[in-house]
Parts: sequence; structure tokens; C-alpha cells
Amino acid sequence: MVEKVPEKNSSGRKDKMKIVFLDRDGVISDYTPNDYVKNWKEFKFLPHSIDGLKNFAFNGFQIIIISNQAGVNKGLLSLETLTDITEKMQRILKDSGVNIAKAYYCPHTAEENCDCRKPKTGLFKQADKDFGPIDFSKTFFIGDSSIDIEAGKHIGAKTILVLSGKTKSEEETKEWKYKPDYIAKTLLEAVEIVIAN
Ligand SMILES: [Mg+2]
Ligand SMILES: [Zn+2]
Repeated sequence: MVEKVPEKNSSGRKDKMKIVFLDRDGVISDYTPNDYVKNWKEFKFLPHSIDGLKNFAFNGFQIIIISNQAGVNKGLLSLETLTDITEKMQRILKDSGVNIAKAYYCPHTAEENCDCRKPKTGLFKQADKDFGPIDFSKTFFIGDSSIDIEAGKHIGAKTILVLSGKTKSEEETKEWKYKPDYIAKTLLEAVEIVIAN
């Protein structure tokens, strides 16, 4: 009789998927109130966000961006420009040893009622097709707005609100229907939460 040897994965634990989902504006880059990042010149990394991403990369996480960019269908920037911004951002991150596995964007306006604009979960489902199957309950989504937290809840991920963008204080979350699981000042702090959980 052959006894089955239990399989061990390389990390020695199976309770966490090494994928992390991040919003872009207000998390990695500057939040621009009532505006969009319309070209590369307007894209500014938040202080220490590259360090945060480095920590994810160093800890073996695949980094996936999930971002609403309605400025595209509002005619404020083209899809080509959005791609250009992404490529230039990735080039800088590559120099720091950070690879973004993929950036998913919703170009639609709220009026278009698409399936991918957060708080809907279409972009996460695209990621699941590309990288899955993903057990979202073992992943984190890090965002700076109530929409992000709602989207994260809908897909079943753990959520971290960072106070580096649209939301400035924990106080603001009191009125929210969906509360974040964790609150962090910055992405750098959020990384510690993900790694500890
Ligand atoms: Mg944001
Ligand atoms: Zn969409």
C-alpha cells in the first residue's frame, strides 16, 4: 500500500494567493480631484509607492492594476495615451525591479453602464481569465475610494483602504455601506498588512 505524501507548496502555506490587486490613482500615483491623468506629464508617483511595489515584488506577489479611466470615453485621453502612460510607468518600475503583471482599465463612463466599471467586477473577472483560477478570498484589493472597497467586497477580496488619495481620513468611511477590512496611510503600510495576513 502506497501512502500519499501530502503536497507542499513552495511557500509552505496555502492560505494566501500571491496576487495583489491595486487601484492606480490615489494608490500608486497622485489622485487628481475632478480630473484625470491625461498624459504622462500629469502622472506622478506618490511618495514611497515605488517602495511599496518593490516590497510586493520582493515577496513574490504578482501585481495587477484595476482602474477606472472614464476620461477615455469622455474624450479626454485616447486609449493610445493610456497605454503610453502605462508603458512609461512600467518602464520606471522595471528599473526598480518591479513587474506589473497587467493593468486592467475600464474606459467607460458611468452612463454606459458597462460590466467593468468599479464597483462592478468585470476587470477582476478578466484577470481571473488571464491568471486564474483566482481564489479572490485569498487576495487583497487596495484602493483609495468607497468604490474600490465596494468592488473588492463584490468580488470577495479582502480590502485595504489607503488614505493617500480620494479618502483622507477614517472618519469618511463611517457613512459607507461597505467598510474596508483594513485602513492604511499609504501603499507602503498596506504592503505590511498584506504580508502579515
Ligand atoms: Mg483611485
Ligand atoms: Zn467599463
